[in-house]
Amino acid sequence: MSFNSLGLSDALLKAINKKGYDTPSPIQEKAIPPILEGKDVLASAQTGTGKTAGFTLPLLQILSEGTTKRHRPVRALILTPTRELAAQIFENVKEYSEFLDIRSAVIFGGVNQKPQAATIKRGVDVLVATPGRLLDLCNQNILSLASVEIFVLDEADRMLDMGFVRDIERIIKLIPKKRQNLMFSATFSKDIKKLANGILTYPVSVEATPENTTVEVIQQKVYRVAKAKKTDLIIKLISEGNWQQVLVFTRTKHGANNLTKKMISSGITAAAIHGNKSQGARTKALEGFKNGSIRVMVATDIAARGLDIPLLPHVINFEIPNISEDYVHRIGRTGRAGASGEAISLVSADETSFLTDIQKLIGMKIPIEIVEGFEPDPNASTEPIKQGGARNRTPRGGGNSKSSKSTTKSSASNSGRRTRDRRN
Ligand code: AMP
Repeated sequence: MSFNSLGLSDALLKAINKKGYDTPSPIQEKAIPPILEGKDVLASAQTGTGKTAGFTLPLLQILSEGTTKRHRPVRALILTPTRELAAQIFENVKEYSEFLDIRSAVIFGGVNQKPQAATIKRGVDVLVATPGRLLDLCNQNILSLASVEIFVLDEADRMLDMGFVRDIERIIKLIPKKRQNLMFSATFSKDIKKLANGILTYPVSVEATPENTTVEVIQQKVYRVAKAKKTDLIIKLISEGNWQQVLVFTRTKHGANNLTKKMISSGITAAAIHGNKSQGARTKALEGFKNGSIRVMVATDIAARGLDIPLLPHVINFEIPNISEDYVHRIGRTGRAGASGEAISLVSADETSFLTDIQKLIGMKIPIEIVEGFEPDPNASTEPIKQGGARNRTPRGGGNSKSSKSTTKSSASNSGRRTRDRRN
């Protein structure tokens, strides 16, 4: 399958060629034809599948074939959950529309609205926006959505996670009833299905990867390891592999902070992102991570979900999640439109049942390795980790890294005493 056979115009093919894409990704192959036919589309696709081009290319084609009104009211609205994602989509829209007479703009909060208002006044065909600022500008009558022909709801699951459902409902009321709708989501919970029912009309469903299965290009690996040796092992893997951009997941905020401190003290630049960090601190960490000044970003699941983290060659689960679906979300951060990525999980005895659940969900056994010198503790308990972060609470009698280190060690050996020997 080539881009030529998808029915895209020469101007778009030229832009695609300039980007260096040879063949359409599966989601592009499946989504572009029905979108060009004017159908509503409900797509299951994660970041990294090429979904942005999947909706942007046909959308631009439809707009360029229609009549351009003199005042250039917004004809396509792309709604995204985060500023970073909005900025990224806008970049793509600009690149793909380079050889078309299409104007585009991006609006999001946290910055002065004046330049955004001025751009809108000059006329914009495609508007990429986050919900809050969009509603602000509409409420001030700076922006009208009355001429929207195509409405794209991107990363709908993250929209719901971030509490945007009411804003979405408000925005829908401001756009014409007769329109084409495209909705993209990585997961399909009951709430997402409900949202889709309210927005889409007889949608064509397309999926890049079946729900809850992990992308095949991702190499998954489990290292069985003694809990007390996880920190040393992760530092060894990152240092010896000379990995420059690694996303690490921990189960708790405290765990993220602790690990970040230890990385830094062993000479690896690292930053933690979690719910206790301000938006400013998170954005700064993410910027550093994207521009290469920070090698390792340590994140909790919730924090990672609200951020537009780029796709990476390496994702490491310092602790595997007790909610199996989170595993799929986490490792979906690796791999990039065809390129391979590696997702590593460090698994101690007390995470055994979580691993079993994850393997059940993804329908495959993840290959297991053991690194010499970092063998699992044969005496450790396989009793599941208590949920709610009790394991990671600040140790009594001091929070400095020395005392917390010794506490970690002693708690591991305590659990060793508590347990049955797995070899018996
Ligand atoms: P997305 O899932 O839209 O965030 O896209 C992920 C990455 O894949 C981006 O860096 C795109 O530029 C790239 N990409 C999109 N479509 C293709 C394609 N057909 N071939 C190669 N790379 C692509």
